[in-house]
Amino acid sequence: MRAEIIAIGTELVHGQKLDTNSAWLSRRVQELGLEPTWHTTIPDDLEVMIAALDLARQRADLVIVTGGLGPTLDDLTREALARLAGVELVLHEPSLRRIEELFARRGRPMPERNRIQAMIPRGAEVIVNELGTAPGIWMSVPRQPCGCPRDDSPLSLGLAKPRTLVIALPGVPSELFAMWEKEVRPRLQKQLPGRVVVREQLLHCFGLGESAIEAKLGDLTRRGRNPEVGITASDAVITLRLVARAATEAEALALLQADEAYIRQQLGELVYGAGQEELQHVVASLLATTGQTLATAESVTGGLLASRLTQVPGISKWYRGGLVAYQTPVKADVLGVDKELLDRFGAVSAAVASAMAERTRQLFAADLALSTTGVAGPDPDERGNPVGLVYIGLAYPGGVHTCEVRWFGNRLEIQSRAAKSALNELRLHLLRRQPAPLRA
Ligand code: AMP
Ligand code: MG
Repeated sequence: MRAEIIAIGTELVHGQKLDTNSAWLSRRVQELGLEPTWHTTIPDDLEVMIAALDLARQRADLVIVTGGLGPTLDDLTREALARLAGVELVLHEPSLRRIEELFARRGRPMPERNRIQAMIPRGAEVIVNELGTAPGIWMSVPRQPCGCPRDDSPLSLGLAKPRTLVIALPGVPSELFAMWEKEVRPRLQKQLPGRVVVREQLLHCFGLGESAIEAKLGDLTRRGRNPEVGITASDAVITLRLVARAATEAEALALLQADEAYIRQQLGELVYGAGQEELQHVVASLLATTGQTLATAESVTGGLLASRLTQVPGISKWYRGGLVAYQTPVKADVLGVDKELLDRFGAVSAAVASAMAERTRQLFAADLALSTTGVAGPDPDERGNPVGLVYIGLAYPGGVHTCEVRWFGNRLEIQSRAAKSALNELRLHLLRRQPAPLRA
C-alpha cells in the first residue's frame, strides 16, 4: 500500500525552513509496512492545496498532511480538506472546550481566531492534540477515477473501496510526534489488513565510491528485492540501507542477517560499521581492544580529527591529545619537524606527514600518532600542489606509514573527508596489525 506525505507551508517551499516532518513521517509509515511513495511540499495556498490533495487521494491509499492547522489566516488545511470532500466546516465542541481550557490554564483569554481550530470537515473525526491548540483531522474521501487507476491495489486501510484515508496533523514537530505515537499509529495498526514487520539495518563503508561498491554486490540493489538494499553517499561515507519485510520480527531479522553476512563477505574491510557507528567509534573501540594510546598532529584538518575522536565517551583513556600545527614554522619549531625536510619537500608531502607523525608519537609519548597535511583550497598551495591533495602519516611501534589521498569538494568537504581518511587509515592499521601488549 502506498502513502503520500504532503507538507504544507510557504516557508518550506521557499527554503527558509527544512521540511523535517516528511522525513520523520516516512520512517513511521514504513514501520507500519506501507510504502511512502510521494513527498509533496506546497505553500499555504488554498488552490494549490486542493490540487495536491486531489492528486494524492487518487494515487495513494493513505495521505498524511502536516502543517496549516494553526489559527492564522494562512492556515488553510481545514478549508482545503472540506473542499476536497465537498462538505462544510462544522464546529467540534469538545475541541473548542480543550482550546479554551488551554488558554485558561495559561491565564489568557482565547483570541476569537483560535475558534477556527475547532472547525473540522463534516463527517471527519478529531485527533486529540495534548500539547497544542490544533487538533488533527482523520477522514476518508472517495478515490476518484483518474489516469492512473489502482483498481488492482489491495483493499485499502479497512475502508470500503474506493476511498482514501486522509490524516492531517499539525506542523509543530513535537505535537506531530506525540499525536502519531498516541493516536495515529495505534489506530492505523488496527486497520491494517495483514500486519507486516519492517526492520532495517545500516552498514557503513569507506574507501570506495558508491558505484564501485554497488558493482561488488551483484544485483543486491535491484528494486523489488526483499530485503530492499539502497545505497547512499554522504561526505565520502557510503551507506547500505537494508529494509526487510516479513510476517514476524524473527523472519525479518533473519533476512537482514543473511544479507549483512553476504555484504561483509563481499566488501571485507570496506565495511567499517553498522547502525549509528561512525569511524571514530570504531577506532576508539579498536584502540581499547588493542590497548594502545593515540596522539594527533593536524594541519589540513585543523582539529577535526581531535574533535571527532573526543566525541566518543571514554576515549580519554586512549587519546592522549593533539596539536594543530598549521603554519609551516609551527611544524618546525613546535612539533620539531626537520626544517630541511620542510624546505626540500614542502609542508604538503609524504615526508612531512611522516615526520609529523613520528615527532607527535615522541612528544605525546603515545603508541600511535596520526598526522594530516594537505591543500584544502580554494587555491593550490605555493608549490602548485592541487586542491584536495592530502597526506596522512601514521607512526606506530616500529615504523611509520604514509598514504596519499586526493579528494574533490569545497574546503570544508576536503577537510572533513581528509579527517575521515586519516581515521580510516588508523582503523585499517589496527585491524591488520597484531595488537600491542597491554601497558601496565
Ligand atoms: P503550522 O502547523 O503550519 O502552523 O506550523 C507550525 C510550526 O511548525 C511552524 O514553525 C512551522 O515552520 C513548523 N513546521 C510546519 N511544517 C513543518 C515541516 N514539514 N517540517 C518541520 N517544521 C514544520
Ligand atoms: Mg504553516
